[in-house]
Amino acid sequence: MIDFETLDARGKNAGFTHTGPLDCHTIRLLPEVREMCAADKCHQYNKNWTCPPGCGSLEECEGKVRRYQKGLIVQTVGELEDNMDGEGMMETEARHKEAFLRLMEDLKKDYPDLLAIGAGCCTRCKTCTYPDAPCRFPDKKVSSMEAYGMLVSQICKDNSLPYYYGDCTIAYTSCFLLE
Ligand code: SF4
Repeated sequence: MIDFETLDARGKNAGFTHTGPLDCHTIRLLPEVREMCAADKCHQYNKNWTCPPGCGSLEECEGKVRRYQKGLIVQTVGELEDNMDGEGMMETEARHKEAFLRLMEDLKKDYPDLLAIGAGCCTRCKTCTYPDAPCRFPDKKVSSMEAYGMLVSQICKDNSLPYYYGDCTIAYTSCFLLE
């Protein structure tokens, strides 16, 4: 039985601004999201083991996700000076990634088989070994929700967590599949 109050406290302690329970049955993996990856707007398609196609087919991702019933959504919401505040966005993203790695290590003590799904591609190494050599840290690499084919706004909505926190804010969302 997951105690979400305790998980919320652990999430806030790691540095997240918001957390919420994730019902894994609400997770839908959509080919349309993978098609957005293939459009390569973020320039990571086919360049990193944690992004498509290196992270595996949608069917393989589905196989991993369907082993879980309950999880935790985590968010970092940052205030921006204006809607073009790129520095504020990058600073919030960096805080989110740091909090994510911190909480992942903490949660692994209780949930050694957890599946951590982050925001953005894996940036653990300066240069990813993809596709010439195996991943240097296969147990630590983390794919994004989008790489799994998740539409983050749908998952937030179906789990009663806001996706948008208003003008001049930016929200980064990740999740941990626990049980
Ligand atoms: S850990 Fe390094 S090699 Fe593995 S996916 Fe991340 S950046 Fe690439």
